[in-house]
Amino acid sequence: AGIDPSALKNLLLLGSGQSGTVYKTLDVVHDRIIAVKCMSLDVPSEKQSRIIAETEVLRKCRSPFIIDFYAALFVDNQFLMCTEYMDAGSLEQFGRLPESVLQPVSVCVIRGLCYLWNRRIMHRDVKASNILVNTAGAVKMCDFGVSKELQDSIAKSYVGTSAYMAPERIYGGEYRIHSDIWSLGLMLLEMALGFFPLSLPGASESPVALMQRIVNDQVPDFRDQLSHMHPAFTQLVQSCLIKDPSLRASPSGLLENVFVVEHDPIEHARVALFVTSFYKDQQASVQPQS
Ligand code: ATP
Ligand code: MG
Repeated sequence: AGIDPSALKNLLLLGSGQSGTVYKTLDVVHDRIIAVKCMSLDVPSEKQSRIIAETEVLRKCRSPFIIDFYAALFVDNQFLMCTEYMDAGSLEQFGRLPESVLQPVSVCVIRGLCYLWNRRIMHRDVKASNILVNTAGAVKMCDFGVSKELQDSIAKSYVGTSAYMAPERIYGGEYRIHSDIWSLGLMLLEMALGFFPLSLPGASESPVALMQRIVNDQVPDFRDQLSHMHPAFTQLVQSCLIKDPSLRASPSGLLENVFVVEHDPIEHARVALFVTSFYKDQQASVQPQS
C-alpha cells in the first residue's frame, strides 16, 4: 500500500543536512512511526515520474543492513523519501567507537554495501551520518543511490564536494564501487580514531584545499594510533585507502578480512548496550541526580 501525504504528521525534527530535512513522522494510515526526508527540488513533471520509477529499485532492497524504504513522493516541489525510523539516530553523534562496537558495526556496513553493490547500486555518500542504529542493536545504511544522485544533479545549491570523496572522483572520474570503498575506509578510520583523519590539526581549511590534499598527498599513517586494535582492522582500512582505485580492496576482499569474518553471528547486543548507555549518560548529564 502506498503512502498518502495528507496522512503524514511530522512529530519531531531529527536533523538536516546539505540536501534536506529529516522528520520523525506518524503515518496515520499504517499506524506506524517512520522517517521522512524532505528535499526541496524543482524538477519538471516528466523527470519526477522517472525519479519515482527509479526509486522502485530502492523499494525492492530487503536486507537487515539497509533501511526499509516505504515510498517516494513529490508534494509541492518537495521530494519526500519515507523510510524506516531508527530510534538511536546516526553513528555521527557517538564519537570514537570502542573496538567491541566497531567490529559489529563494520560487519553490518560492509554487508549492507555488498548487498547494494550486488544490485548495481552505488551508495555515493558513505559517512557516519548515513549509518543509522536502533536500540535493538541494528546497524543500517541510508541515503544511497537515487537520493544521492538527485542531490548531485538537481539541487542547485548543492556543490557536490565531500570530504569523503575518493581522489579519482575529485578529478572527475566515473562513480564506481571503488569510490564507495575509499569513503568506507575513511569512515571506519574516523570511527576508530574519534576525529576526521584527513583534517589538519587545529587548522580550518577550505573544502578546495582539502580536495587538493586528498588528490596530491599521501594518506597519513595511523598505525601507531591503532596499535591497541586488532591488526586486521588496520589492514582493512589501509586496503580501502589506496589512492589508485585499481589497487584498492574489492567487495570480496572486504568480506574475507579477518576483522569482518571472525565474529559470527554479529554481536548486535554490544551495539544495543552501547547506544542505550550513551543515551542514559546523556540524560544524566542534562539532569544531574541529587
Ligand atoms: P547529507 O545531507 O549529506 O546526507 P546528513 O546525513 O548529516 O547529511 P540528513 O541526511 O538530512 O543529513 O540527516 C539528518 C539527520 O537525521 C541524521 O544525522 C540522522 O541523525 C537523522 N536521520 C536521518 N534518517 C533517519 C532515520 N531513518 N531514522 C532516524 N534518524 C534519521
Ligand atoms: Mg544523511
